Amino acid sequence: MASDRYPSRRQKLLAEVRKQSLASLLITNETNVRYLTGFTGDSTYLLLTQEHAILISDSRYTTQITEECTGLEVVIRPHTQKMHEATAKVIKKAKLAQVGFESGVVTVEMFESWQKESPATDFVSCPGLVEDLRMIKDADEIAEIRTAVRLAEKGFATLRATLRPDLTELEVAHDLEHAMRKFGSPGVSFPPIVGVGPRGALPHGRPSSMRISEADSVLIDWGANSPGGYKSDLTRILVTGKVSAKLEKVYGVVLTAQRLGIAAIRPGVKGCEVDAVARQHIEQAGFGKFFGHSLGHGIGLNIHEGPRLAAISETVLKPGMVVTVEPGIYLPNVLGVRIEDDILVTKDGCEVLTSVPKELDQMIVN
Ligand code: ZN
Ligand code: ZN
Repeated sequence: MASDRYPSRRQKLLAEVRKQSLASLLITNETNVRYLTGFTGDSTYLLLTQEHAILISDSRYTTQITEECTGLEVVIRPHTQKMHEATAKVIKKAKLAQVGFESGVVTVEMFESWQKESPATDFVSCPGLVEDLRMIKDADEIAEIRTAVRLAEKGFATLRATLRPDLTELEVAHDLEHAMRKFGSPGVSFPPIVGVGPRGALPHGRPSSMRISEADSVLIDWGANSPGGYKSDLTRILVTGKVSAKLEKVYGVVLTAQRLGIAAIRPGVKGCEVDAVARQHIEQAGFGKFFGHSLGHGIGLNIHEGPRLAAISETVLKPGMVVTVEPGIYLPNVLGVRIEDDILVTKDGCEVLTSVPKELDQMIVN
C-alpha cells in the first residue's frame, strides 16, 4: 500500500474545499475519516485545514491511532468532555471563521451543538466532497476489491460444492459466511441474502428457515470484505430442482439485460444511460414492471456508494470507478431472478472483476 496515499487524498480534498471558497472541512463520516487517514475505529472526526490535519478521538483509540496513522495532529478528548465540545474547542483554537461540514451525515443535534459551542464560526454545508473522491479508485483500492471478489468467489464455490437439499436459507447464509472467513475474509460485506423459490422475489429478503428442497431454485446475493475493508457484491441463482419454462424465460431475459448493461460501460457514459440499456431489454420482453430497482451501484469501502447506475443518475463514468450490474425480475409469489457482477471502468471500456459462471445450464446443482 503506497505510504503517501492518505496525505495525497487529503491534498486532493483540500483542493476541492478551496473550490467551494472554504479553508477547512470537518469530516464526521467514519468511512470518510478512514479513507483520508487509514484510521479504522469509530467516533472520531477529522478537521482538515490548509495547514493542519487534526484527528479528534478518545482514549480507547490512542494506541490504535499511532499504529494506523502518520502525519496527523491528534486531540484525545477526556471522558468528561462530549464530542461536540471537544470539536468546538479545536475549531476555536484553530481560529476558523468558517468550517465546511458533511451535511449529508451530520444530525441537527450535532449541528446545533457546534453552533452553540462555537458561535463565532460559520458552519457551511458541504455535502459529498469525500464521496466524490472515493468514486474513483486508485491501484491499491482496485487490488483490494479484486481480493474481496476472490474471497467471495472461493466462499461460493465451497458453498456450492456442499449444498444439500435439507439446508435452510439461514444455514446457507451461515455456511457461506463461514467459508469466506475461512479463506481469510475479515467478514461479509453485508449479511448474505438467500431466497428459496418464491422468496427470491423479495429483492432484499432476509434468510428464513425455508429449506432448499422446498423449491427448484435459490437466489444468493453475497460479498466479502477484503483485509483493507473493501467490498465485493455478487448475485447468482442456483437451480436445485427442475428448470421450469418460467425460470428459463425469466433467466434468459435477465442474463441478456445484464450482458447489455455491462457492454454499455465505458468512460464518458452516464449512469442513467447504462441503466436504460438493460431496462429497455427487460421492458421489451414484457417484464418492465417486475424490475423495480436501479441497475447498479458503486462499491468500495461501503457496499453502496457512488456512482449509481440508475434512471436518475447523471454521473459520467470515469476510469477507476467500480460498479455492480444487477438487473432483476421479481414475480411475486412465483420466483425472482437477479444476476450481479462487479465491473471496473477502464480507459477504453470495462473489465468484469467477477468470474462465477452464469449461463443457466452452469447453475444447475445436483
Ligand atoms: Zn448484491
Ligand atoms: Zn449490489
